[in-house]
Amino acid sequence: MQSNALARELTGVVIRPDSDEYDAARRVWNGMIDRRPELIVRSHTPSDVIAAVNFARDNNLVLAVRGGGHNVAGNAVCDGGLVIDLSLMQDVSVDVERRTAVAQGGCTWADVDRATHAHGLATTGGLVSTTGIAGFTLGGGIGWLMRAYGLTCDNLRAADVVTADGRLVRASSTENADLLWGLRGGGGNFGVVVAFEYDLHPVSTVLGGLVLHPASRSGDVLRFFREFAATAPNELTLLAACITAPPAPFVPTELHFQPAIAIAACYAGDLSEGERQLQPLRAFGPPAADAIGPMPYPVLQSMLDESAPAGMQNYWKSTFVDSLSDAAIDVLVEQAAGMRSPLAALHLHHMQGAVSRIPPGATAFSNRDAQFVLNIVGTWPDPANTDANIAWVRATYDAVAPHAASLPYVNFMAEEGHDRVRAAYNPETYARLVDLKRKYDPSNLFRLNQNIRPD
Ligand SMILES: Cc1cc2nc3c(=O)[nH]c(=O)nc-3n(C[C@H](O)[C@H](O)[C@H](O)COP(=O)(O)OP(=O)(O)OC[C@H]3O[C@@H](n4cnc5c(N)ncnc54)[C@H](O)[C@@H]3O)c2cc1C
Repeated sequence: MQSNALARELTGVVIRPDSDEYDAARRVWNGMIDRRPELIVRSHTPSDVIAAVNFARDNNLVLAVRGGGHNVAGNAVCDGGLVIDLSLMQDVSVDVERRTAVAQGGCTWADVDRATHAHGLATTGGLVSTTGIAGFTLGGGIGWLMRAYGLTCDNLRAADVVTADGRLVRASSTENADLLWGLRGGGGNFGVVVAFEYDLHPVSTVLGGLVLHPASRSGDVLRFFREFAATAPNELTLLAACITAPPAPFVPTELHFQPAIAIAACYAGDLSEGERQLQPLRAFGPPAADAIGPMPYPVLQSMLDESAPAGMQNYWKSTFVDSLSDAAIDVLVEQAAGMRSPLAALHLHHMQGAVSRIPPGATAFSNRDAQFVLNIVGTWPDPANTDANIAWVRATYDAVAPHAASLPYVNFMAEEGHDRVRAAYNPETYARLVDLKRKYDPSNLFRLNQNIRPD
């Protein structure tokens, strides 16, 4: 391999196994992933990305692409082969008049929110600010603003993409519109996105935070959540979470480290109307803790950061849920009681609103009709407890499956095999994604992802 010649072509950096930074550079958010690439190219420019793509293709190297490195499946890194790591490409520019932002492929949500918030604008981003925008957007993107403004992929106006043949192409409604369609939910299958252009919305201060109840009330709280969510206005996005209560200042000491259920909320609209809308949530129970108040949107976006530390062991499974039956609630309550780690959680994201207003087939993201998506979050610190935690995630999934759609959300998937990837899409959408893959990446160079196979 002429990796020295590649290094000379780049303005970015090549990291090899003997480099001091190698061990840190090959780590991703999920501490379970322990892969050893031959080369890590920290690209600085789209030209660097083109050179690295050409080099990997011409030398038949396995190729991984790293945005924020948060995906639990660990596809941002490979054994042997070459990683294109975009973490040096974190520029964001905001066009206030057009209400758009262009963010480079290595940005995290913290980078984007910081830049857009300065202008009182935002787009739908993740619940944890350290997550990369790239994988997040390409898989769909559910977040605090989705019921008001759609998924992140719905706000993707255009993208600059390095394709498998080493071209830099634009995907927009007027250029390569088929590619833009595929980038809106089809994952990293079609190339390396070096820049994302998003629609922005006037969002600055939101009414957000969470209420917390002891787990003994979980059944009642989930039934309340179901009714409350059913009539929520689009400005209000909600998440119910079975968790272990943190020792945070707003949590009563008797609840510290105890099983609990939270309902987190973001009202992105008129604040006094938000107070009115959130009143039933804050009155129900009443909660043991109420940490809801007006806050800058980026504060809400980072509220849960501490609950998701990097380097833990992680195994997740997810499913869309069409309607939350009493039987499903019983299963969730029972499984939450059996969580094997204080970092484990069950997250029930309320969808609908602007997400379901977009016609099925308009983007690659499927399952727009679902009421909820359930993420079974297996997170634990000690590798010695891996078997017990994975068993809990799988048992929870199996127990809930008869009451759910059993269709996964690609961004919450670990390595689950090709059938599960296929199940994440409507059959027509999947067939269209295969056609697109044949057009843009017929040899499946970009296969370390939730893979759409061209054959
Ligand atoms: C703590 C935490 C919180 C999360 N919260 C949410 C949430 O609120 N909502 C939600 O929808 N999801 C959430 N997720 C899931 C998240 O959307 C996915 O993990 C997503 O893949 C992360 O993107 P990334 O760029 O950090 O990932 P990476 O691991 O870097 O990449 C993920 C996949 O995308 C590909 N990829 C990365 N960058 C590019 C690029 N520039 N061009 C082409 N392909 C690329 C990779 O090859 C890989 O296949 C969360 C994940 C974590 C760990």
